Amino acid sequence: MIGKTMAALAVAALFSGSLAAATPALKDGTYTGTGSGRNGEITVELTVKAGKLATVNVVRHGETAGISDAALARVPAEIVAQQSTAVDAVTGATMTSEGIKAAVADAIRQAGGDPALFAVKKVGKKQAAKTIKENADIVVVGAGGSGMSAAVRAETLGKSVILIEKMPTIGGATVLNAGTLIATGSRYQREVMKETKDSPELAAEDIFRVGKHKNDPVLVRMVTERVGGVVDWLIDDLKIPYGPAATQYPDHSANRQLGVTGRSVNYLNLMREKFLGMGGKLLLETRAQSFITDANGRVVGVKATDAAGNTVELTSKAVILASGGFGADQSMLPPSMKNYLFYGVDGETGDGLKMARALNAGTINLDLVKMYPQGVETRPHHGLAATASSTDTMKASGAIYVNNRGERFVDENAGLGVLTEATVAQPDSIAYIVMDKAAWEKYVAKSLEDKLVPDAAALDAWTKIVNNGHPVMAVSDSLEEAARTMGIDPVGLTKTVTHWNEMVKAGKDADFSRKITGGLGEGPYRIVEQKVRYQTTLGGLKADAGLRILDTAGKAIPGLYGAGCVVGGANGADSMTAMMNSWAIVSGVVAAETAVADLKYPRKIRHKEKRTARRLARACRTVRSFSGSG
Ligand SMILES: Cc1cc2nc3c(=O)[nH]c(=O)nc-3n(C[C@H](O)[C@H](O)[C@H](O)COP(=O)(O)OP(=O)(O)OC[C@H]3O[C@@H](n4cnc5c(N)ncnc54)[C@H](O)[C@@H]3O)c2cc1C
Repeated sequence: MIGKTMAALAVAALFSGSLAAATPALKDGTYTGTGSGRNGEITVELTVKAGKLATVNVVRHGETAGISDAALARVPAEIVAQQSTAVDAVTGATMTSEGIKAAVADAIRQAGGDPALFAVKKVGKKQAAKTIKENADIVVVGAGGSGMSAAVRAETLGKSVILIEKMPTIGGATVLNAGTLIATGSRYQREVMKETKDSPELAAEDIFRVGKHKNDPVLVRMVTERVGGVVDWLIDDLKIPYGPAATQYPDHSANRQLGVTGRSVNYLNLMREKFLGMGGKLLLETRAQSFITDANGRVVGVKATDAAGNTVELTSKAVILASGGFGADQSMLPPSMKNYLFYGVDGETGDGLKMARALNAGTINLDLVKMYPQGVETRPHHGLAATASSTDTMKASGAIYVNNRGERFVDENAGLGVLTEATVAQPDSIAYIVMDKAAWEKYVAKSLEDKLVPDAAALDAWTKIVNNGHPVMAVSDSLEEAARTMGIDPVGLTKTVTHWNEMVKAGKDADFSRKITGGLGEGPYRIVEQKVRYQTTLGGLKADAGLRILDTAGKAIPGLYGAGCVVGGANGADSMTAMMNSWAIVSGVVAAETAVADLKYPRKIRHKEKRTARRLARACRTVRSFSGSG
C-alpha cells in the first residue's frame, strides 16, 4: 500500500514537472542502452540535457529494412516528445518498438534514473472518433506488390482509386522479395533475352510440376498467358527497370527470369510515385474491417478504421482485395503444422480472407504453405531463416542432421525441397544439426556474413531460448549431455556419430551417399534445432480468370475482385522461383482490368473522364486485348 502511494506520488511528480524533488534526477550526458528487438539486440544512444530526455538515436540494430523503418524513426521521436517510454508501438513492428523502448529504459537506468517512472503513459486529451467518408471508382485493400500493381493499372485506365494500407508503410511481404518476374511471351523476352522456345504452355508445365499439380488450372493458364503483356507494360510503358535476373534458377526450363534493379522495394517505390502522380489516393494506417454491400449483395465499398480510431467509410463501384496471406495467424493453418515456423511479415493475418468468407466466398488449398527447412525458433512460432548458415556448414565440415532418435535420415547436402520433405517426415517434424567446434566456427562465420544475427553473442544466446520446454540450442563438451538437453536419444546419437566417423574414414557415405567433407571431431558440441519454416500461404480465395472472387457455389460476387496471396491456387503446393511475385503483379493488373471492364462506362461521361477521353479509349483497347481469358 505504502509502495503504491510512493509510486503514485512519484508519477504525479513526473507530470507536474518536479521529478527532481521525488526521484534521483537524470544526470546530463550520453548513455548507451540495449534492448531485444525482432531480430536481436537494439542499441540506442540517449542524451540527457537539463535532466530531460533530449535525444534518442538507434545506433545499432539488425531489424528488417522496410518493415521496421517506421518504428525506428517514430518511437525514439515519440519518447523524446512525451518524455516517456510508454509510447504506442508501431503496428506491424511491435517487437522493434518494444526493443527500442527497453533500450531507452536501460539507458535511463545508467543515467541514474528509474525506468519505471518513465514508463507511465502520458494521457493526452482524447479526440472524439469521427466517421470519415470518401468515394472513388475503385478501392484497393493492401499496398503490397499486388495492390500497387492493381492501383496503378486502374489509374492508368482512367479510374479514380483509393488504396488503403493498414501498416504505416507500403510494401507488405513484397518488401522482402528479390523482385523477380517471369518474362514468358513478352517482347522483352523475344528481342532482348533472345528466347524463342518459351510459351505459356511450357511455363504452365513448369508451374504444375513444381506445384505438384495442386494448382488451379484456370489461374495457371491466365497467369502464363497474361504475364507477357504485363511485362511489356511495365518495361515499355512504365519504364520500370527490369533486366535479366542476376541468378537464373534451374527450375525454369526456358530463359525467362527477370529482376528489377533495387529489388522489389524499388518497384514498390516507383509504383507509388506513379500512383500518386496520377492522382491516386493512398491512406496509410487504415485497416479494412468489412465490406459495404448494397441491397443486391453487390460490394460497393469498404468500412475501415484508422490509427486515430476513426471509422473510414469508402464507397466505390468495385473493391480489389490485395491484402496478402494469412501465415502470421497460426490458428488458420492445420494442426499438423504446429511445429512450423513463420518468418514472413506480422501483418499477414488473413484479414481479406476473413472479410470475403463472411460474404460466403469460396476457398482453395487453405492447407498449403511454401515451406523451407532450417528454421530456428527465436520467438514462439516465428523463426530465423538459417538456411545459408546450415548449408555452408554442411558443405565444408563433418556436421550431420539427426532426428530425435539420434539417427541420420538424409544426405545433408540434398536440395532444399528434399530436406524439407525429410524434416516433415521425422517424428516431431524437426531436424537437429549436430556440430563440433570446427563446424560451429563455420556456422558462426556464415551467419555473421549474411547478417542473420548482429553478432556472435546473439548466436550464443540461442541456448537461453526455450519454446514449450524445448530448447533451441544446446552446448556441451559431452555429446550425450547436449543430446539429452535437446530431447534427443543420447545412445542413438553416439552410435550414429561413431558410425558416421567410420564411414568418413572409409571415404564413403554408404547410407545416404553424401560427399564426404570430414567427420565430427572435438567439442564443444552444439546441437541446433532445424524446423520447417514458411512465409507464404499458397491457398486463399477462389477466383475466376478475371480475378472475380467466387462464392462457395462458384458464382462471382459482384463488385469483388482479388489479387496476390489472398487468392489461392495459382501456385499449387509449391511455387517456382519468381512465381509468387509474378502472381502478385500479374493478378493485380488483371484484377484492375477486369474491374474496369466490368464497370461499364456510364452513359453520361463525367467531367474527369471527358478530360481523359483519349487516354480512356486507348486504355479500353488494351483492356480488350488483355482480357481474352478473363
Ligand atoms: C522473406 C520473404 C522472401 C520472399 N522472396 C520471394 C522471392 O524471392 N520471389 C518470389 O516470387 N516471392 C517471394 N516471396 C513471396 C512474395 O513476396 C509474396 O508472395 C508476394 O509479395 C505477396 O504479395 P501480395 O500483394 O499478395 O501481399 P503483400 O505484399 O503482403 O501485400 C499485402 C498488403 O495488404 C496489407 N493489408 C492486409 N490486411 C489489410 C487490411 N485489413 N486493410 C488494409 N491493408 C491490409 C498488408 O499490410 C500488406 O501491405 C517472399 C516472401 C517473404 C516473406
